[in-house]
Amino acid sequence: MSARLLVVSNRLPVVIEQSDGRWCSRPGSGGLVTALTPVLRQRGGLWIGWPGGGEEGGLDLAGMVTAAGEPAGFDFAPVKLTTDERDKFYYGFSNEIVWPLFHGLHTRCNFDPAYWKTYQAVNCKFARIIKENVDRGDFIWVHDYHLMHVAKELREVGLQQKIGFFLHIPFPPPEIFLKMPWRFDVLQALLEFDVLGFQTQNYRRNFTQCISSVMPGISVRGRGRVLTTKTPQRKVRIGVFPISIDFDEFADKAASAETTEQTLHLRQTYPGRTLMLGVDRLDYTKGIPERLKALGHAFERYPELREHMTLVQVVVPSRTAIDEYQDLKAEIEMLVSEVNGQFTVPGWIPIHYIFRNLDRTDLTAFYRAADIMSVTPLRDGMNLVAKEYCACRIENDGVLILSEFAGTAATMHRGALLVNPHDVEGMADAIYNAFLMGKKEQRTRMRGLRQGVRKYDVFWWLDMFLKASSEQDAELAAPPEEYDLMAMLPPESLAQAEPVRVPESLSCDGALE
Ligand code: UDP
Repeated sequence: MSARLLVVSNRLPVVIEQSDGRWCSRPGSGGLVTALTPVLRQRGGLWIGWPGGGEEGGLDLAGMVTAAGEPAGFDFAPVKLTTDERDKFYYGFSNEIVWPLFHGLHTRCNFDPAYWKTYQAVNCKFARIIKENVDRGDFIWVHDYHLMHVAKELREVGLQQKIGFFLHIPFPPPEIFLKMPWRFDVLQALLEFDVLGFQTQNYRRNFTQCISSVMPGISVRGRGRVLTTKTPQRKVRIGVFPISIDFDEFADKAASAETTEQTLHLRQTYPGRTLMLGVDRLDYTKGIPERLKALGHAFERYPELREHMTLVQVVVPSRTAIDEYQDLKAEIEMLVSEVNGQFTVPGWIPIHYIFRNLDRTDLTAFYRAADIMSVTPLRDGMNLVAKEYCACRIENDGVLILSEFAGTAATMHRGALLVNPHDVEGMADAIYNAFLMGKKEQRTRMRGLRQGVRKYDVFWWLDMFLKASSEQDAELAAPPEEYDLMAMLPPESLAQAEPVRVPESLSCDGALE
């Protein structure tokens, strides 16, 4: 499919913000930006989205966004939001309703009807800007939960061409989704797209079960990567497309001289210690407090870890204007100081805490330097950090501790040590098992993980989605085999199922480097 890509997401990959009283631009962060930037760089196209900010007067937003887009190699078109729209559409409906609900945390939702009205109005605004920019033959590809209403708005202004939608976050089961007061409207709006993409079979199954519950007249047919459903207006294709990264870009960056030098420097900073890394956006879904408690528990339970293991926890500032996120930051900082206060001895601090966004070189150096990567969200649509870590392990070693509730676990369950992030003791055991794991086992696991990430990279994801959109069924591979928590398969991949081995000495293979 060689149509021009017209990508639409809430945020542009560039953020316009004020710093020291002056307006400036900086690159955006987050999984969606990491995944889509190489796609647009390779194919060209147009990206429509909000560059941040409110109703600031005298700001040449379009000019700044165009200038920021030039080095990127593709075009940007900004959507400007008023302060009220930002508060009710972005902070309100998107972040106080859809985000917690879709991650299964309905008690955090604030179902304010004013949010819903603004959500529809802002989706209508996005639709208007799409209509102004779209050419005949473009493939319109809308991304994520902020924009579930866009196709409905586009149909209302008469646009009939194909529109795809990809949901980056989980889709919840009916007993959670049906709590949303506007459940029927949201499902109906989603069925105005021609192709709907989900990260895992589980999320797609939740969606089709919601369709069956709320819209009994609509049936979903088929098997494999793409199912179809017929609405009175159109046939909708519903597929599973696990998002990924540009593997080669990360592996090449990890092997570069600059990263290698920085990796060596990091290793010298933690001499003879096993380095465990956590990299998460500041968000309650990421399970950061749970990880810190589990680490404290591991130091209690396995004193051999003390002075021999250090956690570097990177937390990327996110949504800090919301009180809940400020509270989470305070909780994390309290837990870091509690663990450090309890276990620090001269020459060893258990947790090194970094609260800022790292650039690509710093991040890949940490991935290369870390013996263990801890990715333990309570719920996560996919989690690209886990895939980036594997891509950067160019020596095929390292251990990935991975939550069963990350979308990534669906396909990476064999090579990772799977954990339940709510199980403090199980997590402590997994940390200890990772610490003890010999190089041979590390390599067997990591080779498998890297092969998967290399083969099913972001270009494969793009290809699958576009093929599904152009109905090239014959060329679509079946969805990858998934880890199915409900079926408790396969037990041997559960870290907790493995007996904890007590080392005869701490110099066992791979434990201390
Ligand atoms: N990231 C970054 N700088 C950092 C930490 C993370 O650019 O200091 C990037 C990381 O490379 C990854 C993304 O942020 O691509 C996080 O994506 P993920 O899917 O793991 O989570 P999300 O933030 O989208 O929920």
